[in-house]
Amino acid sequence: MKITDVEAIVLRQAAVDEGIADGSQDDLVILVSTDEGITGIGEVDSAPDVVAALVRQPASHAVAQSLRGTLIGRDPLDVEGLWDAMYRGLIYVGRRGIAIHAISGIDIALWDIKGKALGKPVCELLGTVRRDRVRAYASLLMPDTVEETSERVTGLREQGFTAIKLGWGPLGEDSAHDVQLATAAKEAAGPDVDVLIDAGLGYGDDARTAIGVARELEALGIGWLEEPFLPDAYEAYAELADEVDIPIAAGEQDVTRWGIRELIERGHVDVVQPDVTRCGGITETLRIWELADERGVETVPHAWKSGIIKAASLHVNAVLPEARYQEYCVAETPINTTLTVQRLPLEADGCVAVPTAPGLGVELDEDVLASLRVDA
Ligand code: MG
Repeated sequence: MKITDVEAIVLRQAAVDEGIADGSQDDLVILVSTDEGITGIGEVDSAPDVVAALVRQPASHAVAQSLRGTLIGRDPLDVEGLWDAMYRGLIYVGRRGIAIHAISGIDIALWDIKGKALGKPVCELLGTVRRDRVRAYASLLMPDTVEETSERVTGLREQGFTAIKLGWGPLGEDSAHDVQLATAAKEAAGPDVDVLIDAGLGYGDDARTAIGVARELEALGIGWLEEPFLPDAYEAYAELADEVDIPIAAGEQDVTRWGIRELIERGHVDVVQPDVTRCGGITETLRIWELADERGVETVPHAWKSGIIKAASLHVNAVLPEARYQEYCVAETPINTTLTVQRLPLEADGCVAVPTAPGLGVELDEDVLASLRVDA
């Protein structure tokens, strides 16, 4: 089998609120086609137009290659070999950031092709399948008020979620208010539902403030504190993580095993959260898990986009020896809720089933794709 084309399709909903931390308002979908009629799908949670330009651009020289050009004519089943070729071909362009984001979407599409070609769900190609369902945590933006927070958490608990994460929004502006919002969430969740707090970079590099908040969250029984600091504030991360018992989570901004290694070794975090559509794809997420596991650090993939990232993360979670949670974005955007035909619903036990069809096990809804295409 040979790759015949790599397409990068930019999607954007009619009105985008650029002020909120909701990355499911636009998308970059990757389609990798083959001469045997199998097409793989992937997506990238990044700057869609820039990633699309990188996928399409012609080669400049040996270490500023064309992604599309690197792939056309190659065997799509050699996923790791193509990962290395893409990485080496883009060294000049960026060993972190956009270049790795683009590789991530292509890597997911290649795994989809491989699964479809071999008639197996992707998880069966990744290792020993340890579970057919993963406990979901509802992931939503933190509302501005305690009333709205209570209402949202109550609604999600009633829907059957056994874990809920609230993030970004006003967090970081006022420590006392942050604790009030977390308290409201915890009270509405009740004793049987885990509550996680994602500060969304809110404390900058201010370790003392974050330590104060973290101690209060710890007393409330919050499951983890995520991204309290800017991603390069490793010293603040280490100071906080060394000081408090509540687990500190981070890593959605980091890419490759080398980036995550720095976060672990310098930042002392307890949980890393590689995003499969950014960190280097399914291939690199598993390498990140291996590195984190050796250092006693837990891996819980970040996932906020469409059914494509949900499916890709579920296949990864299916093979990890321990998979505490599947992040389950509850944003009511058309990209999150309708882009894939398979909606991967929450089941009665608070889990989401790992898709069982060959490949990722999700297909694009062509009508939704057409309606959201920017270049249509
Ligand atoms: Mg986060």
